[in-house]
Amino acid sequence: MSAAFIKNIRKVEPYVPGDQPNFPDMIKLNTNESPYPPAPAVEQILHTMSADLQRLYPDPNVSKLNQAIADFYGVKPEQVFTGVGSDDVLAMCFLTFFNSEKPILFPDVTYGFYPVWAEMFRIPYQTKKLNDRFEIVKEDYYTENGGIIFPNPNAPTGIALPLSDIEDIIQHNPDSIVIVDEAYIDFGGTSALPLIEKYDNLIVVQTFSKSRSMAGMRIGFAISNPNLIRVLNDCKFSFNSYTMNQVTIAAGAASVADRAYFQNTVAKIVKTREASKKVMAELGFQFPDSQSNFLFVTHPKYSAKELYEMLKAQHIFVRYFGTGRTEPYLRITIGTEEQMEALFAALRNYFQQSVV
Ligand SMILES: *Cc1c(COP(=O)(O)O)cnc(C)c1O
Repeated sequence: MSAAFIKNIRKVEPYVPGDQPNFPDMIKLNTNESPYPPAPAVEQILHTMSADLQRLYPDPNVSKLNQAIADFYGVKPEQVFTGVGSDDVLAMCFLTFFNSEKPILFPDVTYGFYPVWAEMFRIPYQTKKLNDRFEIVKEDYYTENGGIIFPNPNAPTGIALPLSDIEDIIQHNPDSIVIVDEAYIDFGGTSALPLIEKYDNLIVVQTFSKSRSMAGMRIGFAISNPNLIRVLNDCKFSFNSYTMNQVTIAAGAASVADRAYFQNTVAKIVKTREASKKVMAELGFQFPDSQSNFLFVTHPKYSAKELYEMLKAQHIFVRYFGTGRTEPYLRITIGTEEQMEALFAALRNYFQQSVV
């Protein structure tokens, strides 16, 4: 391309999501989806999709789903903002709240989308190095800034920050918006949601993609005080009013209504995670104590790349990042017990064969 318009093209280095392979026999442990189906009521919605659900524009206020989420978490519907996955919600938050000349702050090892949105929206940013144990150091976030965001538990480490440390960060930054990305909070750690009443600068973001088994439906939400939710809506309605489709709104509301199914599913995954930690340690892996639905593992004898390739050849997909501080690590999503057994068998087999 050589025309003059080239200089006017927005230059972005896009986020690269994990592979979405599709083999009938695959064991997919690479993008932190739930191995279990969504609540049974969701299936019902999908089978009874009325003509009107298809023909009419959806409710731009997403009232039914916002109400369901508000009921679940004991907040008012005007404290909830729902979007097309938490990626959509987070991007809208960056656009709405991060407009300072000062840099926003987030960890060096964290969700790979943060620097991409910052670049995309031309928001200055600074990363804060996790310590040697891959933990967030709260004092790093006491410097001047234009906003703060971090996941809790952090990704891809799985480490949760104690709520008291999160509160310290919020308290030290009364002039900035602090976003806590709780994509994995249902699997461990303590949610910052109760702090919303106490601090006017806190936004908590969660997703249906992991603990609610609905990554394919694309639902995420933010909970905060009504003032911040109002300005978030102002930005959203200035961009696209109808982001949430009718079916997703109905399916999402049906899913949230089934609290027992949700709790059972999460409990199963947590149980499998704890059992998996024991086996992975026996196999010689080292990893932080994950509070999420994945393990972030490294092996002293085998490179991450080697194990990733070996597993991939057997259609067992795990996440290998391949750069920087995360290069020696694999991020392995917790699957069903059977899926984890297959993973352990493949690893055991490989370790035995490679003994000289
Ligand atoms: C998975 C994930 C998201 C995005 O999830 P959506 O599918 O867009 O809801 C956001 N933040 C973190 C830390 C995640 O791991």
